[in-house]
Amino acid sequence: MDLSFSAEHDAFRAEVRAFLKTNLPPHLRAKADVDAHFEMPEIMEWHRILYKKGWVAPHWPNEHGGPGWDAARRFILTEELELAGTPGLSPFGLIMVGPLIMQFGTDAQKARFLPKILSGEEVWCQGYSEPNAGSDLASLKLRADDDGKGNFVLNGQKTWTTYAQYADWIFVLARTDSSGPKHKGISFLLVPMKTKGLVVKPFLSIGNTLAFSETFFEDVLVPRENLVGPLHGGWSLAKALLGHERTFIASVGASTRLLARVKRIAAETRTPAGVLFDDPIVRAKIAAMEIKLEGLRMANYRAIAGAQLGHAPGPESSLLKIRGSEILQQLFELAMSIMGHDSLSWFNGASSVPPIEEWVPSQWAYYRASTIYGGSNEIQRNVIAKMILNLPGA
Ligand SMILES: Cc1cc2nc3c(=O)[nH]c(=O)nc-3n(C[C@H](O)[C@H](O)[C@H](O)COP(=O)(O)OP(=O)(O)OC[C@H]3O[C@@H](n4cnc5c(N)ncnc54)[C@H](O)[C@@H]3O)c2cc1C
Repeated sequence: MDLSFSAEHDAFRAEVRAFLKTNLPPHLRAKADVDAHFEMPEIMEWHRILYKKGWVAPHWPNEHGGPGWDAARRFILTEELELAGTPGLSPFGLIMVGPLIMQFGTDAQKARFLPKILSGEEVWCQGYSEPNAGSDLASLKLRADDDGKGNFVLNGQKTWTTYAQYADWIFVLARTDSSGPKHKGISFLLVPMKTKGLVVKPFLSIGNTLAFSETFFEDVLVPRENLVGPLHGGWSLAKALLGHERTFIASVGASTRLLARVKRIAAETRTPAGVLFDDPIVRAKIAAMEIKLEGLRMANYRAIAGAQLGHAPGPESSLLKIRGSEILQQLFELAMSIMGHDSLSWFNGASSVPPIEEWVPSQWAYYRASTIYGGSNEIQRNVIAKMILNLPGA
């Protein structure tokens, strides 16, 4: 298996870097330089710039408006965007519901929804989780009853709906049949956010953003044509969508950027004996992270090389998700420990931390979630135990 990139791939990497130099607007670059948290309007602004360039959906096939690239090019673009600290695009349309509509949608649904996901004209959010249905997703209770007039009537609640307040559409898993096994009575529906009876209540995250919402449905009417895939057959769609979600979660570029940042903090933090970077314990911790990240990079390259040979991403994407999210968290923890008491300053503007590092504590807090979202790491370990190691009872 050849894990090196071709001359053509190297040329593409140079093209992406040149594009970023001239096309990342100064106000977004200023935030990227300090690794600040981007809000949804900024994310969508960047989405539209990448759309104009034809780079917004590297994994979409030509027939649906994507560039039809190989896996290596897709990886290079993602890695370079992360290395530059650009806003991470919202995954709900591009990575989740878009590919799902391509796979299971009717021609009318493809024509209606895909172009607007691509252009960013319509923003999506994900309505999977409920207060008692997260890892045990099939326990969901949001009801969708047939009204006998060509509509479903939705009643119930979703939670953790990321950026629902900005969305035009939500895709939901809803219960259309309660009589059989719980995963056999679920359907996949597309719901316009402006429908009467649908109420969004954002709440503040520990990272100080209004990132999440509770979403309530009270007699929300959804036309039957908004059903994707078979009635009661939404469970296989739900799982297919989660597969799409996980493949993009290793975050090698983001962690590489973060590691460079950790080194910079260590090099700039004074001690009575010099700077922290001279401390052998700090150096050993940084070296350990460097080795872990290199391991993840190689695992990611292997997955790409496998994809080039035509292997579909299988349960090994769970491995990338586990390691990628753990490494991100460990790097933030290392940054916080190196910053010491300065890491306790939180948007108070009066600390001795250089302004460039002010965002570390809130981003550290935000990334506590990386081992939970996209399917928690414990569940990913169960997947590996069952699907790769063939262990019993997992
Ligand atoms: C930042 C963030 C953004 C999110 N955005 C969205 C969104 O936009 N839309 C959406 O629908 N959802 C979203 N979620 C929800 C997310 O998918 C769920 O939090 C996740 O699936 C876990 O479910 P839970 O929170 O109910 O935890 P639980 O399922 O209650 O799990 C609690 C703990 O028990 C462990 N556990 C549970 N079952 C098992 C088992 N069988 N074996 C071993 N361990 C187990 C879990 O791993 C976890 O550590 C988001 C979550 C976060 C944190």
